[in-house]
Amino acid sequence: MKKTVDQLVEHLIFAKELGVAGVSRDQAWRARKAQEGAEPVGALAEPALTIAHPVAFSSNAADALAAVRTDIGDCTRCKLHALGRTQIVFGVGNPHADLMFVGEAPGADEDIQGIPFVGRAGQLLTKIIEAIALTREDVYIANVIKCRPPQNRNPEPDEVETCEPFLFRQIDIIKPRVIVALGKFAAQTLLRTPDPISRLRGRVYDYRGAKLIPTFHPAYLLRNPSSKREVWEDMKLAKKLLTSES
Ligand code: URA
Repeated sequence: MKKTVDQLVEHLIFAKELGVAGVSRDQAWRARKAQEGAEPVGALAEPALTIAHPVAFSSNAADALAAVRTDIGDCTRCKLHALGRTQIVFGVGNPHADLMFVGEAPGADEDIQGIPFVGRAGQLLTKIIEAIALTREDVYIANVIKCRPPQNRNPEPDEVETCEPFLFRQIDIIKPRVIVALGKFAAQTLLRTPDPISRLRGRVYDYRGAKLIPTFHPAYLLRNPSSKREVWEDMKLAKKLLTSES
């Protein structure tokens, strides 16, 4: 119980940092139409404080994703296999997700656990997802490349070129309505542009049948907490696109 209360407090503090104005258990309030500047935070009253763990899904999309994973195998297609990676970090989440997050590459924690975004940045990503009343199990999370680069250096062009087709296959199977590109590297790589993230974010791009929203990487937010407000704006936009018709 104490842990639950602590988690709730932590969750509300984060929501406040993100600029959420308030929460209520009142059903009418929770069902209200989100107003300009106010936030769709109904579910924050009952936060889903989920810890990341893979969920078994059974469907054609799940089978198709499993087939991609099988194709990747114990990959030796690029040099990263010989540069200290522990394992391939394929992706995790709902094969039918409407919302997909794409990061850069696995870090040390992800390399050990084989699951994307489980380190400190990943914990922040989990909170960001929960702040729009979703859980990690509702969304799909992957990276541009599936192996950890040494010393967390940026992925190199040949590594991206070799690995990216597997991400494309994941996107084409999942068919998310919205993709959030996490950070400069993912946004620039997916959108094929050298533009800085500060210029890329704040706009919506058509991408492989989805709407792509670039935002700051959670690791950047850990170093620059004041940018959480912009990320919150981006997440509000994502939520709006997810809840809009068509
Ligand atoms: N950073 C990323 O870009 N991806 C991860 O999976 C973890 C940290």
